[in-house]
Amino acid sequence: SVPLSFFGGIGAASNIGVLVKGSNYLEQMAHLDTVVSDKTGTLTEGVFHVTRVVPAEGVLEETMLRNAAIVESLSTHPIAKSIQAAYTEVLEPGLARDARNISGQGLIAKVGDSTVYVGNKRLMEENGIDYREIQDGESTVVYVAADGKFQGAILISDEIKDSAVKAIREMKQEGVRHVVMLTGDRKGIAEAVAEKLSVDEFRAELLPADKVQAVEELLARMSGDKKDGSNGKKKLAFIGDGINDAPVLSRADVGIAMGSMGSDAAIEAADVVIMDDDIGKIPRTIRIARQTVGIAY
Ligand code: ADP
Ligand code: MG
Repeated sequence: SVPLSFFGGIGAASNIGVLVKGSNYLEQMAHLDTVVSDKTGTLTEGVFHVTRVVPAEGVLEETMLRNAAIVESLSTHPIAKSIQAAYTEVLEPGLARDARNISGQGLIAKVGDSTVYVGNKRLMEENGIDYREIQDGESTVVYVAADGKFQGAILISDEIKDSAVKAIREMKQEGVRHVVMLTGDRKGIAEAVAEKLSVDEFRAELLPADKVQAVEELLARMSGDKKDGSNGKKKLAFIGDGINDAPVLSRADVGIAMGSMGSDAAIEAADVVIMDDDIGKIPRTIRIARQTVGIAY
């Protein structure tokens, strides 16, 4: 049976707004060796601002932005919200249809008679669109195309959460040995964020399936430390919020989701939910977990 103090630990976590879905997860949180995190919306604010709009030659800025805004109105991704906010004209609902969300790439939808593509360069490449690449170390670049023709790019940027810098430092004080950032975003941006946050390792330009693979590699690396192939008590947590993060949240020993920005799929797949998205509550929960285990044993 479960020692009573585990319920005390779950209660203590609940008091700070952290939902722990079982005493076993509290026990695993007490033994975190590796913490893997998604970037956008987890380590960064996830609130993008449009910084530059670059229409392709012969395309009106208005046309390109309108197409992008119509298509993004079907998405809840933080990128989508920023593009909707940048297009201030009122759009009647129902302008886009047959939307397809391409994981780690963006969206494709019908607008009137046109097929519109809104996403990163991989989306352009995979659909054979002759786009003009924008080199900008600081920004996420969203490319727009219609009917196979490049219409331009929208540059947006996000900011690192002050609380993330502190949370990473505190996790290390709570015994976490290795912090890894995984992102679908470009390498240049990932590198800058990784450096500012002093994470130990980062991987960029990943598709959701690559994130699962990265976690599996990290788990294998941890078990390599043990002769019997088990991880012993060493555990791995993944922190994420996106709809695409559900598989990797399930794969980790402890999946941690952000409750208010998180998608339903992520919250469902998670073992621990941070109700108000305050990443600083993760080291606090580790501390509660360690105290609980200390009491229980
Ligand atoms: P992250 O790992 O940073 O959370 P995602 O896996 O959510 O990123 O997305 C990876 C990349 O796919 C984004 O950086 C962006 O280039 C592109 N992308 C995803 N969703 C959209 C969208 N709705 N509009 C435009 N681009 C998108
Ligand atoms: Mg994400």
